[in-house]
Amino acid sequence: MPLVRPFATADGTITTRDILLVRVLAGGAEGWGECGAATSPGYWHETLDTARASLPAIIRGAVIADEPMAHAAFEMAMLDLTLRERGVSLADHLGATRASVVATATAGFDDDVTAFVDAGYRSVKVKIDPEHMLRERPRAPIVQVDANQSFTGRGDAFDVLATLDELDVLAVEQPLARDDIDGHVALAARVAATVLLDESITSITAIDDVLRRGTQVGIVVKPARLGGVAAAQHAHDVCAAAGVPAKVGGLLETGIGRAASLAVAALPGFTLPADLSASDRYWDEDLTAPFVLDGDGCLAVPRGAGLGVDVRMDVVERATVWRDLISVRT
Ligand code: MG
Repeated sequence: MPLVRPFATADGTITTRDILLVRVLAGGAEGWGECGAATSPGYWHETLDTARASLPAIIRGAVIADEPMAHAAFEMAMLDLTLRERGVSLADHLGATRASVVATATAGFDDDVTAFVDAGYRSVKVKIDPEHMLRERPRAPIVQVDANQSFTGRGDAFDVLATLDELDVLAVEQPLARDDIDGHVALAARVAATVLLDESITSITAIDDVLRRGTQVGIVVKPARLGGVAAAQHAHDVCAAAGVPAKVGGLLETGIGRAASLAVAALPGFTLPADLSASDRYWDEDLTAPFVLDGDGCLAVPRGAGLGVDVRMDVVERATVWRDLISVRT
């Protein structure tokens, strides 16, 4: 699927997004899931190819520890199917309390942040690296930055990142290497902004490890990376019990994955705006009815049964380049 414009971050620039969907058909009912993996490794080790290779075994009941995004895609489809049959929304199933969540537009290096503010976003996240620092504060009430590990090994990283406090940035996400938890904890003691861990949060165990070192840093919960919405719900509970700032992260999902992430983001313990935007931030044509901002810069949490979205089969069919059918007798 083509992006509305190139998206440039410390991990590189992409112009299109390949998407792997799981559609479960059983007894006349169906459910949809979306895999968060990208075409190539870089942000995360799983790729669409590894997920695609793993899904037949996962669907037949195997557990493949290194493929949480493949598991998450299948879990999402099964939840959509079973909750649709029961007439229960994913948000209600999870115990979500918010009817809407504050949307965040993520600006790549080449994006005009002002355009997002003009479009109605109250919350923006700006991608930075040492060569693309935020120099002036965008007009949005809520501003976060994300460095995607790009300050790793830079001797003056703390000094440079401390300048963001002058811009009253709410949060600084993953400036240092994913395994450098101590570095992030030390940075949190130095800056006023909340230091968030994203790439570091590869599992529930990783969250437990962070919390054992105190509650100075916050947590980005990406349901796909943790293995699905059930694991994300557990991560939410752990963070809320510890009083740690937490938010739901995004992975350039279509409306299918976005619907699931919105249900998770509506849980009460997520204290920071989710990295979830309206459909037109990335897509001219989404795979569902487009998610649009309301007058408060928020996105409504789907309340229909299952994921609460109807997949536009015509758009899916037009974009499909590969499909496989896996039959399972139950
Ligand atoms: Mg991030």
